[in-house]
This record gives sequence, C-alpha cells and structure tokens, in this order.
Amino acid sequence: MAQQQSTAKYVYDFEEGNKDLKDLLGGKGANLAEMTNLGLPVPPGFTISTEACRAYLADGAEPQGLAEEVSQHLRALEEKMGKRLGDSDDPLLVSVRSGAKFSMPGMMETVLNVGLTDASVQGLASQAGGNERFAWDSYRRLIQMFGKTVCEVPGEAFEAALEAAKRAKNTHNDLDLDAGDLRALVDEYKKIFSEHTGRDFPQDPREQLTLAIQAVFNSWNSDRAVLYRRQERIPADLGTAVNVVAMVFGNLGADSGTGVAFTRDPATGEQGVYGDYLQNAQGEDVVAGIRNTVPLQELERIDKASFDELMRIMATLEGHYKDLCDIEFTIERGKLWMLQTRVGKRTAAAAFVIATQLVDEGVIDLDEALNRVNGAQLAQLMFPTFATDGEYRPVAKGVAASPGAAVGTAVFDSHRAAELGAKGEKVILVRRETNPDDLPGMIAAQGVLTSRGGKTSHAAVVARGMGKTCVCGAEALDVDVEGRKFTVNGQTVSEGDVVSIDGTTGKIYLGEVPVQPSPVVQYFEGKVEPECDPLVAAVHRIITRADSVRRLGVWTNADTGEDASRARRFGAQGIGLCRTEHMFLGDRRELVERLILAETDADRQAALDALLPLQRADFLEIFRAMDGQPVVVRLIDPPLHEFLPGLEDLAAKVAVAEATGKDPGKDGVMLVAVRRMHEQNPMLGLRGVRLGLVIPGLFAMQIRAIAEAAAQCRQEGCDPHPEIMVPLVGAVQELETVRAEAEKVLHDVFTKAGVEVPVMIGTMIELPRAALNAGQIAQAAEFFSFGTNDLTQMTWGFSRDDVEAAFFSRYLELGIFGVSPFESIDRDGVGRLVRLAAKEGRAARPDLQLGVCGEHGGDPDSVHFFHEAGLDYVSCSPFRVPVARLEAGRAAVASEGSDSR
Ligand code: PEP
Ligand code: MG
Repeated sequence: MAQQQSTAKYVYDFEEGNKDLKDLLGGKGANLAEMTNLGLPVPPGFTISTEACRAYLADGAEPQGLAEEVSQHLRALEEKMGKRLGDSDDPLLVSVRSGAKFSMPGMMETVLNVGLTDASVQGLASQAGGNERFAWDSYRRLIQMFGKTVCEVPGEAFEAALEAAKRAKNTHNDLDLDAGDLRALVDEYKKIFSEHTGRDFPQDPREQLTLAIQAVFNSWNSDRAVLYRRQERIPADLGTAVNVVAMVFGNLGADSGTGVAFTRDPATGEQGVYGDYLQNAQGEDVVAGIRNTVPLQELERIDKASFDELMRIMATLEGHYKDLCDIEFTIERGKLWMLQTRVGKRTAAAAFVIATQLVDEGVIDLDEALNRVNGAQLAQLMFPTFATDGEYRPVAKGVAASPGAAVGTAVFDSHRAAELGAKGEKVILVRRETNPDDLPGMIAAQGVLTSRGGKTSHAAVVARGMGKTCVCGAEALDVDVEGRKFTVNGQTVSEGDVVSIDGTTGKIYLGEVPVQPSPVVQYFEGKVEPECDPLVAAVHRIITRADSVRRLGVWTNADTGEDASRARRFGAQGIGLCRTEHMFLGDRRELVERLILAETDADRQAALDALLPLQRADFLEIFRAMDGQPVVVRLIDPPLHEFLPGLEDLAAKVAVAEATGKDPGKDGVMLVAVRRMHEQNPMLGLRGVRLGLVIPGLFAMQIRAIAEAAAQCRQEGCDPHPEIMVPLVGAVQELETVRAEAEKVLHDVFTKAGVEVPVMIGTMIELPRAALNAGQIAQAAEFFSFGTNDLTQMTWGFSRDDVEAAFFSRYLELGIFGVSPFESIDRDGVGRLVRLAAKEGRAARPDLQLGVCGEHGGDPDSVHFFHEAGLDYVSCSPFRVPVARLEAGRAAVASEGSDSR
C-alpha cells in the first residue's frame, strides 16, 4: 500500500480565505482575503498560516512540506503578476508581513522589497520608467530591513550611514538623495551587513524569502511582542501568520504615495473620514512618523480619482464590517491599492459613541452595541480629567491621540521610564517619536508625549490600544533626547520637571494641573443628565440596556454609610460584603485590646459591652443608606493579633525598658499576650468562624448590634434587610453552632423591641473543604457568598499577600497562567469549586442565594464566569459597580447568543 502523504496545508491564496479565519490566517491575512473576495483592489498574495508558525516555533525548523507549498503559491503569484521573483529584467518583489489573530501594532516584523538583488535592481529601474533613484532606494530599504529584522544587524548602523549620506548632501530630507547617492548607500549598507553577519547580503531571492518568513515567525517571541501580549492578555501560544504580498510602490514619484485612514474618528467616534497621507513614500514611513504627513483630505487635491475611489471603498468596508475600519493603502502611479483593513482600534469614548451611532443608523441593534463595548473601556471613562478653567495655560498643543489626563515628571527614554515607573513614580515619556523599543517605557508611564507623528503614529496607535493618555506630533517641542530635555516657546523642561498632558484636547501644560471627575462618574452619581454630552448619552443607553437584560444582580462591598450611598448611586442593588473588622480600628483599638487582654469573663464582657453601641451605630448608618436593600454583614474575620502592636517592635521596646532598669508597664503585659497569640501561618490560624467559637460573646455582640440596629431602623420607618455571614467555614458543625447562638440573640432582641425583621444567616465559601461539602453546609445556610480571594489562596496554596510580587511575573512569563488568579477567576481550579458548590448547595436547598464577594466580583472576565455558573449576584467595590453591570449585561447577551446557536 502506498505511504499516505502528509495532508497538512499551510499556505492559502487570498482567494481561499475570509474574515472569519483569523485563528488560521491572522487578522491581516483574513481581512486581505475578505477584501480580495469583495472585489477590492488588493495586490495578489498568499498567507502562511499560524499553524505553520506554531509548528516552526515548536520544532525550531520549518514543518515538512512548507517550503514546497510556498514555492507552489509563489509560482502562482508569479503567473498572476507576469513577473518572476528576482528576474533581472522585470523582477517581482514581495512584502513579507506578520499578522496575528489579535492586532499587535508594530510588535512583530515586516520585510519589504524581498526579491531585489544586484542583478535585478537595474531591471526594476527600467520597469519603473527608468527611475533609478526609486530602484536604489528600494534596494537600500531591503538591505536595511532585512539586515535588522532577519540578521539582527543593529538598526543604528544603517541609520548612521543614512544620516552621513544626508549630511554630505547638506540636507535633512531623504528625498534629496539622488540615484547615485543611494547606490553608494547600498554599497555602504552591504558592507555593514557583511561586517555584522560575516556573510554577503543574499543574492538568491528565494533564500531571501525563506529567511524573511522565518524571521517573522521568530518575531512572535521577540521581547517586545512577549511584553505586549502580557500587557494585552493575548495568549502566548497563538503564533503569527505570514503574508507574502506582491509589492506595490508608493515611492515612485509625486503620483504615488501611501496612507492610513479610519472610516470615523477613532478618538471621538465622530463621523467623517480621518487619516494621513504621505506622498512619494513607502508604508513604513507613515507609521514610523519619519516624515510629516498631510491630512487625508489633501489627497482630494493631489489625486482626485484615487481619493474618490478610496471614499467609495471605505464606505463599502464600513457597510460590510458594520463597524469602524482602519485601512492602509498605497497609490502607485495613480492606481489605488488596499494593503490592510481591520475593525479599527478606538478609544473607550469612541467605542461607546460609535456603538450607539451604529444603532441610530440601523446598522446594529442595542444588544450588538452592548457587545461592542466592554467593562475595561467603561472603567477608563471613569478616570478624571483636567480642571483647567482658564487658570492653566497650555504651553503647546499637539495631536489629541489618546484621551485622559496624565501628570508626571518628564523622562526621555524608555528604560528610565520603566525604572522610575517600577518605583511607583508617575512619569510622562517624552520622545521625538516612539518605536517598538519604547514599549516598556510606554507601559510604565502615565502618558506619552511626542513631537512628531499623527494620530496613526506608533505612539498614538499603541497608547490608544493600551488606554494610555497620549499627545503626539507637538511640533513646538524641540526634544533633545540625549540632553534629556525639551524646549518649547523659549522654556526648557528637563528630566524630572513635572508636565501635564491632556490626551482629549492635545494640550500640554508645564507643572501640575489639578484633575476633575469624569462626566461619566458624574452621570452615575446623578449630578448630570445623560443628554449633557454625547458620550454620557451613549453610556446611559448602553448601561440601561445592560440592566434590562442582565440576570446577575450587582451588589457592592462597602463598610461605611458613605461608601454604601455612593455604590447605591452607581447602581448597586445591595451590600454583598460589609467587612466589620474596619470598625475595630482607630480609637476603638483600645477596646479591642481590652477584649483580647481580658483575664476574666467579666473583663471581656465589659469590653464587648463597650463595643456594642459603637457597632450598632455603624450598622444603623449602613442600613439607613441601603433602605430596602440587602446588607450582608460579615462577622469579624482576621486574626485578632492584627489589632495588637507588632511582636518585634514591642519586644524591642520592652528590652530597652528592661535594659535601662525601667518598668515596661503595659508593654510588658501586651508582649506576653502578643507572644501567646503569635502564629506562624496566621492566614491558616485563629481567624474567621474559629474566633467566634473560641472567644465567648464576640459574635453574639456583633449579632446583637446588627439586630438592634435593624430593629431601630424598622422603628424609624425604614426597611432593613440584614444578612449575617459567617467567614471561613469548613464544616457544617461550625456554622450550626454559630447559627444556634445567632437565633437566640435575634429572638431576644426582636422580642424586646417588639418588631420582627427577617434575617438570613449564611456563610462564605472560601475554603476548598466548604466547596466540597456544600451540600451539607447548605443545610445550615440560607445563602453562600464565594470569598474568591481566600478560595484562590487556599486552592492554589498561594499566600495572597506575598506571591504576586514574589514570583507571579515568572509564572506569567512561563505561561502557567495568562493573568493572576487573584485578578481574574481561575476557571479550571477555583472556578470548578464554585460550580460544584453552587450545584450541590442548590440541590440541598433550592432557594439558596448565591453570590460572590471576592475581588473577582468586579473583574469583567470573572463576571461572565459567575453568570455562566448561575450565581444570583456579584459584589464588588463601589467604583466597579457600573463595570459589573455592563459586563453582566454583556454576559447575558452572549449566553443568549450561544443558547440559540
Ligand atoms: C474573600 O476571601 O474573598 C473575601 C471576600 O474575604 P476577605 O478578602 O476579607 O478575606
Ligand atoms: Mg476571606
């Protein structure tokens, strides 16, 4: 029997793909295919799949059959173009571009003009109508990009040679270099190439192509790509596709050029075409901000036919994708070519505005609008902005590239920004323009300020993607990176001086400008009407829709009346966690010390009696604020020695007193108690329910305070709904004991007060044992609230106070998890316990109320998980309440979609 041939297919012509194949073809490849099939003018080409990249990265070598497949598709491409790669009379040149499933702007590699050699450069010149300058310019670009990307020749070596050539011509503009200059530069570049690589620049075009493809594969794991993925939470194992596309040239003269465009303004969502155009240039020049671009509208004057066609294509794309698209195009001697499109990145504000605009235009419905925004964007819109009413005068204005108000000290290199950022300092990264090497500094900075480049420059695109404030193209700034300073209007700002930048207006201020609350927060607080501005109106419509479709309730974690009121204004429907330990701090610490140090029952009871009215007042304030809504009060949880002085300090104090012959007095007594209570693992020690079982009267005092406050509240005409929550339960017997005591106290208080307030008694599920025995525990609990902070700590065995700083960065690097399990729920481990406990708890008690009150309650991805797990509500910090409402709505819409599929 004949041996079965491998059937793996790694290469796809553009005609074979479509926009839904992003997993396989990457975003760029899938959308080039889509545009090809829409009949738009896309240069022919093919895509090497992400599968091929993954196989290459796993084995360190191209998978079997890939080279042959590439050659077949190359032959087909040559036929389509009527040219051959490397042909000396009429060479086909190709671009080799990365393109992952998720856009990672500028993070991976591109090589243009592949196929050009000593033998074919003259042929290219004659095919370009004798344009020698163009041919030599293309060749020098190839050697530069190939050298840097494929062979790791330091980019500065080429840049220095280019600068020297310009200096020799007494010019700053590379357009002033003629064919002869560029030919000499090619010789210089080749020398640089051989010096650094120990070999000549490859003259076999097919070898160039192979090496360029492999370089793109490898760039998936470059430092900056890894860093970007971690920042953007893009999985590390996707790999990139590689697009091999017939070159079209924007640098053939004044009738050629290249540009980028958005179908709407990506910063505000306003309708109308927005973009930048650069005459007589190749694509990379625009994004790199090397020369200043002109607004796209200018193209109408320069080349009306191409402009009109571009407008038609942009309308087609918006209609087709039903969303804002961004595109890259090139005009080669009056002929327009589309090089890329994708659903465009946009600012958080634009995302809301565009989504509702599209609803008004009848393109999408409100549920789809809900799908088009997310909680992270809403959180961004809740940041403050500058309060500048006339008092602060901007020193200059740049392009408003990514909104927000950022204040920090000026820093001029990425490394320094990252260093200071790591120390918690607020910095603004100031550059002439940024490049991908600036990524660590951009991540660390509060904001980014550049003197060159437009809304589509590297700085703008990357900052917008990260939700970081950015002002770019502030040409009044003369940035001297080496001197670590910039000058503007006669003033000098040196490293360490404070600057304030407004990414919404583009204004730059020297010194610190105070900030004001976001209008979105003001809307949530009921201080402004939705109609006050288009963004607030859009948020209002979308969040209202979220509220009407969500199944999950959104409660809040609050332990003061003030927090409770604020959360309620933000839409909280109850308090899911009122931590009572905060009520034992401040001037009450002394009473707690008395309680802990009590030597007799009478002493202890006296301390508890003194605490009772204070606790009652605390609860009364909260019940009043949450009138008509549930308030889950958690009995005291942390180890009591947290309320006592630290062992080491105290021991030192006592030792000093003793050494100097003084009586250590109260410190001596305290030291004995602190030593007695010291624990090696306090998180696993005397805390939670264990405290209530060990210290007589402690829980009873808290329960009495809750009941008395509820009774008083009811007598005042309010409608309190207290729920008593017992922390750290692992066995049903623990809960039964507390419940019996609680029921007695409640009965006593309500009988005396002559009122009856229903009080639910339930437990936190924050120990794996509790989750595993949920059926039993539910016999004694009317509700469960998942304490996912402790549940994560106890399931992984990760100390929640130490591990994130200690070694999580290594775990993230190794891909053990993509995000800290304390931030976003670990679905496979902790999540499984949640599902199990929910199921078994409900089986034992069908009306069991289920919520979550760990930090995960406000994390967008986790909210989706809790929706899927069938919980009744999530509880999160007041500021996260709107985010959770939005995400709960999105989860409901998403699951409806998947249910009906
Ligand atoms: C939890 O453990 O998730 C929780 C909410 O309790 P705390 O954070 O107070 O331990
Ligand atoms: Mg806990």
